[in-house]
Amino acid sequence: SEEKSLNFIEEIIEEDLRNGKHGGRVLTRFPPEPNGYLHIGHAKSICLNFGIAKKYNGATNLRFDDTNPLTEDTEYVESIKEDVKWLGFDWKEELYSSDYFDQLYDFAVALIKKGLAYVDDSTAEEIAAGKGTPTEAGTANIYRSRSIEENLQLFEEMKAGKYPDGAKVLRAKIDLANPNMHLRDPLMYRIKHAHHHRTGDKWCIYPMYDFAHGQSDAIEEITHSVCTLEFIPHRPLYEWFIAQLDIFPSKQYEFARLNMSYTVMSKRKLMQLVNNQIVAGWDDPRMPTISGLRRRGFTPASIRNFCERIGVAKRDNFIDFSLLEFFIREDLNKTSWRRMAVLDPIKMVITNYPDGQEEILHGENNPEVEGHDGERAIPFSKELWIEREDFMEEPPKKFFRLGVGLMCRLKNAYIVQCDDFVKDADGNVTEIHCTYFPNSKSGEDTSGLKVKGTMHWVSVKHAKTAEVRLYDRLFKVEQPDAEDGDFKDYMNPESLVVVKNAYIEPDLTLAIEQLQEHPDRRYQFIRKGYFCLDKEATAEHLIFNRTVGLKDSWAK
Ligand code: ATP
Ligand code: MG
Ligand code: MG
Repeated sequence: SEEKSLNFIEEIIEEDLRNGKHGGRVLTRFPPEPNGYLHIGHAKSICLNFGIAKKYNGATNLRFDDTNPLTEDTEYVESIKEDVKWLGFDWKEELYSSDYFDQLYDFAVALIKKGLAYVDDSTAEEIAAGKGTPTEAGTANIYRSRSIEENLQLFEEMKAGKYPDGAKVLRAKIDLANPNMHLRDPLMYRIKHAHHHRTGDKWCIYPMYDFAHGQSDAIEEITHSVCTLEFIPHRPLYEWFIAQLDIFPSKQYEFARLNMSYTVMSKRKLMQLVNNQIVAGWDDPRMPTISGLRRRGFTPASIRNFCERIGVAKRDNFIDFSLLEFFIREDLNKTSWRRMAVLDPIKMVITNYPDGQEEILHGENNPEVEGHDGERAIPFSKELWIEREDFMEEPPKKFFRLGVGLMCRLKNAYIVQCDDFVKDADGNVTEIHCTYFPNSKSGEDTSGLKVKGTMHWVSVKHAKTAEVRLYDRLFKVEQPDAEDGDFKDYMNPESLVVVKNAYIEPDLTLAIEQLQEHPDRRYQFIRKGYFCLDKEATAEHLIFNRTVGLKDSWAK
């Protein structure tokens, strides 16, 4: 196998291992905030954090970064666990930043005692103004010189609930002139009288991200804390807290977040789509969420392969959605069962096929594997549903399907030649008339006829119906975030096309049963793409989601 070059995080880890840092131990963490469902961007972070730990015999903690009581919920905690597991990863420990609230409080008290933190009564605006600008130093206010004793007492009173929201904050006392704005006496704690999904009403002060994250890493003795580039300016603060508290020296490393075209990738924005009912929920198959991709029919392997391919960069970039589609096609081509479904039907009559006769033909389930995963029976008769687009009144050159005088093979069946067609009063073609060649049966063709095209079909008499949902890009512009106005103004109105009554071959009615035995069962509807059963499907009302179209629906 070919030697893969290391990404820059792996280089750092290998260097650390060579130097015997942390006794050769690698412990990473994946730290989602449980304020929404995970998206494909998170998948990149999951694959990276769990992937490097696995590669170096280390482990990964799943840590819920739950320091914002107002936005967090156990529904999100559960969905995140399900998604990480589904992607194929196991965490060492399930942890919560909120488990460290006592410890973090003690850390804050320790900094106050060292004269490195103070209680500030200013409003948010006053604090912002006091920080100055990137080119102008900030100015100290009267609270900055409070005594250690006073700070200790006020902080304790904050914790005890003596003050309303926003009345006071605890700030680190660092440097109001530092060129890095994050070091200009950043907030450590704010007052928020809010119920927390885990700690209930125990706390009315909550730590800020910058005071919770690094300390949580240190408490767990995380060796490599990987986050996205926007946290680069936070790194000096991360290191300052760890140094002042003299705790485990976790180190932060930053990589480029994943951005994808034709979608948005922020839980806050995805939540708006859900709340405004622009999509059917977090797991709507058009959503870039892991649960949406799962419902759409993406496999864990396709997402992992995608994340592997895009790699770990230090510069932001945009990845085209089609790259993800490439990986799911590659996966499903190898595994999916071939079936026939006609989405836009028109009737074909085989005039020389005896009335009332029918026969059972056979089609392999999967030509890509040895033994073909067996085969299924396909009933054939005089009248077939074919795809409307497979017939043309005036076919251009190189049209390898049907028009008067043209021949085409019916998949797993016979070669037919089109002789005639019927139109209604409005000029719409309603029926195609063909003759078939009895000696051209697939697998035992002695006709000597050469045809270039193959079409799918379903016997009218034996056809069952299903609802088929066809998905397209959720947005009609490449970067909805970068457009004027609201990103929701750029939804693609054709992102979902529902075919209420597609005709499917009868074997597909077993799909629900087959799914119970083989939860990974997917189908390739020949020439139409890859499909999976939707979670709302029932035996009486089958629903198939198109995961992705075929690259080439034309030649085969
Ligand atoms: P969002 O804005 O979507 O809510 P977030 O960064 O606030 O994203 P978190 O729950 O805090 O979401 O993220 C958990 C981890 O996933 C973090 O380490 C974060 O850096 C990473 N992550 C989030 N979005 C992306 C992305 N688009 N690409 C790569 N990693 C991401
Ligand atoms: Mg976050
Ligand atoms: Mg966020």
